[in-house]
Amino acid sequence: MKEKRKGMLLVISGPSGAGKGTLVDRLLKKDPSFCFSVSVTTRGKRKNEVEDVHYHFISEEEYDKLLDADAFLEHASVHGHRYGTLKSEVYERMERGQNVLLDIDPQGARAVMAKEPDCVSVFILPPSYGDLKVRLHTRNTEQQEEIERRLGNAKAEIAQMNRYRYLIVNDDLDLAFEQLQAVVRAEKQNSIRYFPEIGE
Ligand code: ADP
Ligand code: 5GP
Repeated sequence: MKEKRKGMLLVISGPSGAGKGTLVDRLLKKDPSFCFSVSVTTRGKRKNEVEDVHYHFISEEEYDKLLDADAFLEHASVHGHRYGTLKSEVYERMERGQNVLLDIDPQGARAVMAKEPDCVSVFILPPSYGDLKVRLHTRNTEQQEEIERRLGNAKAEIAQMNRYRYLIVNDDLDLAFEQLQAVVRAEKQNSIRYFPEIGE
């Protein structure tokens, strides 16, 4: 049997510290049909981050040039820094049948959902605000002030969860990952992107 597939655009969003990056890393390791859309950002690189793997780290001037060139599928100011998804990270790959994964904030997710209504949107929730706080402190990648800013934004972000096609509460990580895989498995069979050609 022959089959054709259109690429899936998987949009993962949720408050900082909910576990998006952790789930995204697992999915990318487990499922080679996905590639990660590397965003550009004007924020500084963290110690554990790799240029062009986690982000393209760019200056404010470079960001302005990309804006002028209409290079973004979406872009937003998040927690005081600018971030954007490059069209070049997304469309060519999808046309080749590859699945593309975005880890972006709720403003960006909303813009992508409007432009690409067939995208698969998943919102990751923490089990509680207390857990979110503990996770951001445990991750230890931001200063106290930046952690407070991210926690302060979480309520408004979570208020938008019903805009998403799927919700996953990341309490037990293995269970949350199983649920993410279930979404992916089902959406791969969605008739908008799966075209099996059965024989005579
Ligand atoms: P995000 O990308 O949403 O900001 P991360 O994936 O960086 O969040 O996770 C934030 C912190 O929480 C990390 O230190 C991560 O190891 C931890 N974490 C992720 N999922 C869980 C979970 N289910 N239970 C406990 N800690 C978790
Ligand atoms: P962090 O600084 O922790 O890597 O990311 C902060 C927030 O920015 C997260 O919610 C992350 O999903 C979001 N983000 C990362 N890349 C992009 C992007 O290209 N566009 C938008 N809108 N948000 C992004």
